[in-house]
Formats: sequence, C-alpha cells, structure tokens
Amino acid sequence: MKCAEVRELLGNYMDQELTESMMQRIEKHLLRCPACAYEARSIEQAREMLRRGVESPMVSEPLGERILNHIAERFPHLRATRSTEQPFSLPLLSLEDEAPSV
Ligand SMILES: [Zn+2]
Repeated sequence: MKCAEVRELLGNYMDQELTESMMQRIEKHLLRCPACAYEARSIEQAREMLRRGVESPMVSEPLGERILNHIAERFPHLRATRSTEQPFSLPLLSLEDEAPSV
C-alpha cells in the first residue's frame, strides 16, 4: 500500500468506516511507516482537541477574570506602572524634528 493511498483513507480509518481488511492494511502500513503514523497521530490529536473544545471552552469568562485579578493582586507594581507612570511616551513627537533633513 502506498503512502498516498493511506493518507487518503486515514480519515475513514479513524472513523472505522473501512472494511476490516482495509483497516488491517492501513494499520500494518502505519506500523511500518513513521511518516504516515505521524500523520495519523496529528489527525487524531486535532480531532481530540476539537472534541474537547466543544465540550469545554478553553477559558471561560469568569476564569479569565479570576486570572486577571490574580495577576493584579500578585503583581501590584504592574498595575501601578500602567496607570500612573507615563501613560503616553509619545515617540511620534520627535518625528517632526527629524524629518526635514534635506
Ligand atoms: Zn506511509
């Protein structure tokens, strides 16, 4: 069996939509061919992630808020620098001085 054939059938193989003999042929190929085995695994992982993503979203909103609050509590200086010290550095102002160098 050729790699191209195997790759074409990998999706069906995962879904066990093939005949038993076909499944076995692909399985045998995967055991011998690291490239196709890798391909199969990455498909499997992608599907797994999709499945998990549907079941539980990565970061729910309350959790995101909790993380932000946690960061603010543990690193108060981060918040302080952002709000008080130099809210704007205005790097664009120097452009006028530099531009007319003809
Ligand atoms: Zn192969």
